[in-house]
Amino acid sequence: MPSEITMPQLSDTMTEGKVVKWHKKEGDKVSAGEEVADVETDKAVMPMEAFESGTLAVIAVQEGQSAPVGAVLGVIASAKENAGEIKKNFKPSGGSPSSAPAPPATGAKTQAAPASSSAPKPQAPQAPTGAPKPQAPQAPTAPPKAGGSTRLSSSQAAPGPAPAPPQKRCDYDVIIIGGGPAGYAAAIRAGQLKKRVLCIEKENLGGTCLNWGCIPTKALLEDGAFVRKIRTEANARGVTVGDVKVDFPKIIARSRGIAEKLSKGIAHLFRKYEVKHEQGTAQLLAAHRVKVNNKEMTAEHIIIAVGARPVELPFAKFDGKQIITSREAMNLPQQPKRIAIIGAGAIGCEFADFYNALGTEVTIVEMLDNLLPNEDQEVSVLLERSFAKRGIKVMTKTKTDKIEKTPGGLKLTLSGANATTIEADVCLVAVGVTGNVENLAAPEAKLELFKNRVKVDHKYRTNLENVWAVGDCVSIHFDSDSSMAGYRHPDLAHVAHHEAVKLVDTLASFHEADHETIDYRFIPGCTYTHPQVASMGMTERKAREAGHEIRVGKFPFSASGRALAAGESEGFVKLIFDKKYGELLGAHMIGENVTELLAELVLAKKLEATEDEIIEAMHPHPTMSEAIMEAAGVADNRAIHL
Ligand SMILES: Cc1cc2nc3c(=O)[nH]c(=O)nc-3n(C[C@H](O)[C@H](O)[C@H](O)COP(=O)(O)OP(=O)(O)OC[C@H]3O[C@@H](n4cnc5c(N)ncnc54)[C@H](O)[C@@H]3O)c2cc1C
Repeated sequence: MPSEITMPQLSDTMTEGKVVKWHKKEGDKVSAGEEVADVETDKAVMPMEAFESGTLAVIAVQEGQSAPVGAVLGVIASAKENAGEIKKNFKPSGGSPSSAPAPPATGAKTQAAPASSSAPKPQAPQAPTGAPKPQAPQAPTAPPKAGGSTRLSSSQAAPGPAPAPPQKRCDYDVIIIGGGPAGYAAAIRAGQLKKRVLCIEKENLGGTCLNWGCIPTKALLEDGAFVRKIRTEANARGVTVGDVKVDFPKIIARSRGIAEKLSKGIAHLFRKYEVKHEQGTAQLLAAHRVKVNNKEMTAEHIIIAVGARPVELPFAKFDGKQIITSREAMNLPQQPKRIAIIGAGAIGCEFADFYNALGTEVTIVEMLDNLLPNEDQEVSVLLERSFAKRGIKVMTKTKTDKIEKTPGGLKLTLSGANATTIEADVCLVAVGVTGNVENLAAPEAKLELFKNRVKVDHKYRTNLENVWAVGDCVSIHFDSDSSMAGYRHPDLAHVAHHEAVKLVDTLASFHEADHETIDYRFIPGCTYTHPQVASMGMTERKAREAGHEIRVGKFPFSASGRALAAGESEGFVKLIFDKKYGELLGAHMIGENVTELLAELVLAKKLEATEDEIIEAMHPHPTMSEAIMEAAGVADNRAIHL
């Protein structure tokens, strides 16, 4: 099949580029990896390298001409093809970017991704004869340079798995079931390592995170915050605005558009790294065997990454209109006047924040003592106060017993601290998720589950040979003597991503010892309410319960010049250190943009930074990040601004 050379996207802002030089002319031989053209962007001139060997059959965009990102610049005929025929039949696309995927920025050297890039043709499916043994240890393959300029075609892939006799070779090195942050990250990483990869996804690439989770909700929250700021702060900042009207469908449409764009970006990355993608619902038949769209396929390794979905309350079935999940809540046809939200974890709180900002009457009901019950209590209490100030009805220590449909909408019967009934037009149930494991495996495969998730050990091994699982679908079980015994996999996109990459790196190198397990004791978590919440590690209570002698440093944003200037003085940074060596045990923050501050503390923890080192690291002024340095200073009685 001929392969196309397309205009790469080399920065976020790049929409088109100019071909300044062709190093080849039509009819010239081209080798994979050879520079074929120079492209000028608004920032630099970049060489573009061919992914495939063959003959340059068509130059579609001449030197000096510009073309939009994704437009076909040229076509390479493979050795078996007739370059003249390809040239004769070539129809210029008109450079229409509309037919081109919208790749995310990669900062790559080139993105000359052939749209028809050539993953190897799978051999006819064969049942593996006997359970294949794990591959022999191999030197890890160096990943290609960013941009794929060193990409080898699959036939050149080296050093690949120990070559098996052809008749026994599986169709793929890796089949991944699910294309969310776990599945697509695993697929891209395996593609980078020159593995023959197939990713099977039944809906949209990007999974929950890109399509129905992290990203679309953040778009909504940004818009909500924008509306709130105009309504509540414009006047105080000397800006007079008239009546602020909200175009709800437009807000929803912007969020959906971003999700769609990102999903296309994953498809682009799959092409770039030669990951094969099949749309369909996969079923695991046995170790090494998967069925999709009535076809059976084999792989050396199978990675299950099927994610999770919202849990239903036993007395209130989801109907998609009034009793809804987060999926419908981010895609309602019109803004509800009243919304009841059951569950005050991150998802419940974020929707409470969004709908309140737009003017919907919001009641949030939580059975446990606080909003965001897993956060440090001081953080939760401040969020509760902030929500209440803005008119969100917060009902903690309150259980929902019944939801009835009435002519006017819904009636919720509550018990506990707020034993009452409330009315709403819609009710979002956000009380947790359950793994997508129904029909995932044929009964004879005997895949072991635990509480509706795939049971894995600390290396993501299931009970079946060479079948692995990562992401939200797993229940992870550590050895009882492990420092992580009792910790669980938190349902977060970055956790899914890291598990997947770690697993693939381990499979590719088989130097398992080189790959330390993710430290589940220090997983960062963020909630994008206003104020935002960000944390990592032990809460103050947990640190004390674990027997640590601790020092706590808390620095309020009301003492931060940057926060005051931004009009965002609500909140604080609270750091927990072990007294003995100043080891960072936990970080808990609430305030404007604290989700962006958390990465500093994640890195500090990774590098085993102590209290002293955080204090002594020069933080730029004026920034919100100074509050971290000052909080560490408070713990050590040497904060300057408090
Ligand atoms: C409203 C909301 C907001 C969120 N916000 C955040 C946030 O801000 N930050 C954060 O870190 N996390 C957030 N999350 C959680 C995050 O989305 C998940 O942790 C993450 O998507 C998990 O990735 P995954 O790959 O394990 O599963 P998923 O993203 O769920 O992907 C699994 C994929 O597998 C597919 N699949 C299932 N079964 C099959 C099958 N048999 N065959 C083929 N395909 C199959 C599904 O269609 C799906 O696309 C949010 C979640 C929700 C619902």
